[in-house]
Amino acid sequence: MVEAESGAPAARRCGFVALIGAPNVGKSTLINALVGAKVAIVSHKVQTTRALLRGIATQAQAQLVFVDTPGIFAPRRRLDRAMVAGAWMGAGDADIVGALIDAKRGLDEETGALLERLAGLQRPKILIVNKIDLVEKPTLLALVKSATERVAFAATFMVSALTGDGIADLKAGLAGRVPVGPWHYPEDQITDAPLRQLAAEITREKLYLRLHQELPYQSMVETNSWQELKNGSVRIEQTIYVERTSQRKIVLGKGGQTIKAIGAEARREIAGIAEQPVHLFLFVKVREAWGDDPERYREIGLEFPSE
Ligand code: GDP
Ligand code: MG
Repeated sequence: MVEAESGAPAARRCGFVALIGAPNVGKSTLINALVGAKVAIVSHKVQTTRALLRGIATQAQAQLVFVDTPGIFAPRRRLDRAMVAGAWMGAGDADIVGALIDAKRGLDEETGALLERLAGLQRPKILIVNKIDLVEKPTLLALVKSATERVAFAATFMVSALTGDGIADLKAGLAGRVPVGPWHYPEDQITDAPLRQLAAEITREKLYLRLHQELPYQSMVETNSWQELKNGSVRIEQTIYVERTSQRKIVLGKGGQTIKAIGAEARREIAGIAEQPVHLFLFVKVREAWGDDPERYREIGLEFPSE
């Protein structure tokens, strides 16, 4: 006897999944693991995700659009407040909100506050415990128990974004939960960030990796010009903004050594993503108190908070 065909092919699904969590829980690493390519910037320096960056993954019939929110934390400065507002706004718009908890860090005060606010959010919520490679099972289960007592999560996943453990399960779980509907992006697209924005993020990452001890969070990178040349290469000009002359000196380094090294690393990575040879020109400018300039906020996709 032949089993009957199940009929029509499974319907397509598509949805936005906002990942929220404290800085450093691994949101960006997780998005890269889910997408299978580097679209988000990972750093040991907290708070490197500024604007809401989207990474796109497909799983069977489902397209999952991940929104990498800035880490939610206690805001003090204006820029911090804009980031927190941006993160919650991203969560409010999403089809699913994935709350990330760091297994090693556990339910500290900051995570507790996040769960409290999350409990009031009227969206489907799932719990994602990350960094399970760092803790023993009993610790993990105790953590899940206490988190699920505080918020009504539709599901719980335990993963390691670093080793890939549990990622396939998470992806399948999300694919089954996003709404039925047409895909928002072409099949092979992995991010909706324009190349020039990605290129700026890459340079910013190299900057942080090298100078995280000397530079405050405020420094930022903008791509000012992106010129396709006849020979198939591209000429890119970027400006690194710092707030003080002393910081400019640090970025340049002795005889321009530091900026040269940052430029070489960034150029290599941008060329890989743009799939063409890149000539990268970096400029370092001092712009005092750019943290209070509304125009800078627009450029990185944030609302300027009025107070
Ligand atoms: P975000 O601030 O939430 O976006 O966090 P990142 O993705 O930038 O990660 C912060 C740090 O945690 C980085 O050093 C990552 O390599 C590390 N990390 C992320 N996921 C894991 C994990 O599953 N296990 C371990 N051991 N480290 C992780
Ligand atoms: Mg991040």
